[in-house]
Amino acid sequence: MSRDDGLSAASGGATVVVFRDDLRVADNPALTMAVDRGAPVIALYVRDEVSPGIRPLGAASKWWLHQSLASLQLSVAELGIPFVLRSGPALRVVPEVVAETGATAVLWNRRYGAGEIAVDTQLKAHLREDGIQAESFQASLLFEPWTIATGAGTPYSVFTPFWRACRGGPEPRHPLPVPGRAAGPPTVVATELLADWALQPTRPDWAQGLRDTWTPGEDAAWARLHSFISDDLDEYAQGRDVPGRQVTSRLSPHLRWGELSAHQIWHEVGRVRAGLSALAAEGATRFLTEVGWREFSWHVLFHFPDLAERNWRADYDKFPWPALDRNALEAWQQGRTGVPLVDAGMRELWHTGTMHNRVRMVVASFLTKNLLIDWREGERWFWDTLVDADAAANPFNWQWVAGSGADAAPYFRVFNPELQAKKFDPHGVYIRRHLPDWDTPDYPDAVVDLAASRRAALSAYQSLREQS
Ligand code: FAD
Repeated sequence: MSRDDGLSAASGGATVVVFRDDLRVADNPALTMAVDRGAPVIALYVRDEVSPGIRPLGAASKWWLHQSLASLQLSVAELGIPFVLRSGPALRVVPEVVAETGATAVLWNRRYGAGEIAVDTQLKAHLREDGIQAESFQASLLFEPWTIATGAGTPYSVFTPFWRACRGGPEPRHPLPVPGRAAGPPTVVATELLADWALQPTRPDWAQGLRDTWTPGEDAAWARLHSFISDDLDEYAQGRDVPGRQVTSRLSPHLRWGELSAHQIWHEVGRVRAGLSALAAEGATRFLTEVGWREFSWHVLFHFPDLAERNWRADYDKFPWPALDRNALEAWQQGRTGVPLVDAGMRELWHTGTMHNRVRMVVASFLTKNLLIDWREGERWFWDTLVDADAAANPFNWQWVAGSGADAAPYFRVFNPELQAKKFDPHGVYIRRHLPDWDTPDYPDAVVDLAASRRAALSAYQSLREQS
């Protein structure tokens, strides 16, 4: 990385690096630039729950954030950099830390949500007015959303041409190594204590299943990527839809929190590609295409910031949702709808903070089409319970299943959870793993008749089509 972003060398003042969804020390352009600047560096994480337009974290996300910050704190310390935690609006907190430390530069990696962009834009202007260098870098996405456009200059609304356009441009840059030690001695700055943020559940402590399932942090993310490439890539293309086989990468929370970057994944897969079997090479292409869906969901969110609130297709605003049936919603949330694949998925989610992609599609279809509950209810539940809850991928995929989204499944596509189970979990491996009471007298009857509710959904969707 060169100093081509207008950053002048240090004139004695420290550099503040503001960490957000980029909780890693390797391939972190803001951190590398800060170290290159040659002055003491301060790493700052701001817990900003008050700036307008920033979505408060869900409970599972908070749990992950705690572990990830604890891990980052150690890696940053090895670089001779103090790690400072502060709470409050970024627009107040960052200038405070600058004033306390006499810093002359503030660097960060870019975010793409509307609320986050608004905060960062104001912060940059405010700091620059005060004579502080303020710069941002591309770190989370392979393709910045405004750089990919159709021939007419509009955003893409269909994945395949979007991805073709991405692939047709220059290769994503190579990832950066972990920077060397920062110039010392480290500045002493007051910090809040991670434990005082109470991000982890205590009474009750419901996080045991999360602890059993996940190891957050940059080292664990790399270990995951390597074991996925060596053990599962050759089965990925054929097995990725089978929830009983754990052959997908399970990298989504690591990507969500930026413990690993898409650039690192891209080039690591590229590095090993020449030595892969034909099956593994097919898996690699498919896997990178899934990473492309992540890019697409951020492209859509960037151009349609209200994705979690509003139908991407405005004609769905007229969809005749019935009054919310709270009992049905609770049965779905708690995994006691009496439909085994749905209940297995919802219990996997509750216990482990994740759910297999195929099952996510099935439970989302069941909620929106069989129970006729607005997709926003499901999106909010996932937001609270997923460790990979992502401001773009979550609403994007909910709208995809509901039919109201970009490049969405057609309205008449109602997943039949029984047929899906027969096809993708024929021996009940997945269902049994997460639903021990299946096939016992305690297991409830189905809350809806699948065939009748499917017909009701189709006629509701039909009425929508007739109106538009
Ligand atoms: P892999 O198959 O190994 O894929 C590699 C990476 O590609 C993933 O880690 C993820 O970053 C990305 N990816 C894969 N599929 C998608 C997709 N459909 N959309 C966007 N990115 C994708 N994914 C999230 O990261 N966060 C969410 O909040 C989220 N909510 C979802 C809600 C619903 C209703 C549905 C149907 C899907 C949702 N997904 C979400 C997408 C997908 O289910 C997960 O990314 C995937 O299950 C993660 O497992 P993996 O890392 O093993 O995926």
